[in-house]
Amino acid sequence: MTIRHHPSDESLVRLAAGALGAGPALVVSVHLQGCAVCRDRLARFEAVGGALLEEMSPAALAPDLFGRTLERLDVDPPEPAPRPVANVKRWPALGIELPSAMRGCEIGPWRWLGPGFRWSKVKIEGSPDAKVMLLKGKAGLHLPGHGHTGLEFNQILSGSLSDERGHYFPGDLDEADDEVDHRPVVAGQTDCVCLAAVEGDTRLHGILGRLLRPLVGF
Ligand SMILES: [Zn+2]
Repeated sequence: MTIRHHPSDESLVRLAAGALGAGPALVVSVHLQGCAVCRDRLARFEAVGGALLEEMSPAALAPDLFGRTLERLDVDPPEPAPRPVANVKRWPALGIELPSAMRGCEIGPWRWLGPGFRWSKVKIEGSPDAKVMLLKGKAGLHLPGHGHTGLEFNQILSGSLSDERGHYFPGDLDEADDEVDHRPVVAGQTDCVCLAAVEGDTRLHGILGRLLRPLVGF
């Protein structure tokens, strides 16, 4: 599997510094599990991070910054071991294995979002307000067009997506900033499941977008 779409260097630096929100940090951590390229880049940022931190004003540093940075850098490699039995009942029937980086998350049932479109709330331990969700779209589905006032992180878990900028396959992470106003389509013959998180507000256009916004709180 060749991964063509990666998180930005800025997001990796923020992850290394413990300055990325919990939702985007989860999505990027899932990407890191499958992407040796980004694991290497993160390690390099970690190596230079100490020097950068020394140049920052002490007031800008949270007291537990180093601890949180180390925690976030502690990304486990993919494990073949089965999920803990205690978690299985809480997870919807996804038809796929969830990455082990999501093992500590509580995952709600699939909920209707539109024809052929489902979503599931992902709760991160200690960060109940993080805007992160699983999305599942049927093959051929056109997702509502939307833009952003922040960043949107979208990691493909199964199936594929396309939009005006390219094609996204399992392992790819699409990071869309406020320059992007896109209209993704579920490509290929199989359903697409992805893990999505947003920072800032997401502006959704069209009738489905107006339906989605109050439902998911974005
Ligand atoms: Zn990568």
